[in-house]
Amino acid sequence: MKVHTVLGAVLPSDLGRTLTHEHLSMEFNNFYRKPPNQIAHRFQSGFTLENVGYIRQYPYSSKFNIVMNDDHSKHAVYNDVGVFKELGGGTIVENTTIGLNRDINFYKSVSEKTGVHVVAGTGHYIADVQNDTTLDIKTEDLYNLMLTELTEGCIDNPIVKAGFVGEIANFERRAIRAAGEIQAQLGCGISFHPHRDPKAPFEIIRLYTEAGGRVNKAAHC
Ligand SMILES: [Zn+2]
Repeated sequence: MKVHTVLGAVLPSDLGRTLTHEHLSMEFNNFYRKPPNQIAHRFQSGFTLENVGYIRQYPYSSKFNIVMNDDHSKHAVYNDVGVFKELGGGTIVENTTIGLNRDINFYKSVSEKTGVHVVAGTGHYIADVQNDTTLDIKTEDLYNLMLTELTEGCIDNPIVKAGFVGEIANFERRAIRAAGEIQAQLGCGISFHPHRDPKAPFEIIRLYTEAGGRVNKAAHC
């Protein structure tokens, strides 16, 4: 079986050292949280020596920090992935799914410029980042979308196939069931995002295995 990267299929033996959960580009504005009033003025600029400690403490309170798809961020990503390659890296598994604004053309560009393989994911992220139409999708439509992206091409970039399912969140239990069904059908790998509820990983694995998914093909990140 070959691995589908954004630049085409490669043998598993050619992947090299692999990072299994990264985001090269994503829309994260939904996660903005207001900082405490007393220190709000610390978050009005980009990174400075004076404010970087505050941003580390409240990373979601800096609008600058949570923009992960502008030119500034992309420049940093080219740079970081280039260093990854220089130091022996081979492949990045990109976990940005529907709701986080996946940008496959950018992944292709990163892969071409750095020589690092990039594998794109398919599926849906948490409910907070989905629109009403998406929240109403039936299990079989979730399944069909992943099937199309894994076997034919991505809906936003039809010449590129997704290489795995993820990261998938339990925005609706049907998303987890659909992931279990598609795993049983295709044998693909699945990356789950359990979010903040400590019980979520257990429920996810139960729903996933009940739907037919294999435990040794699933990761919780
Ligand atoms: Zn992630």
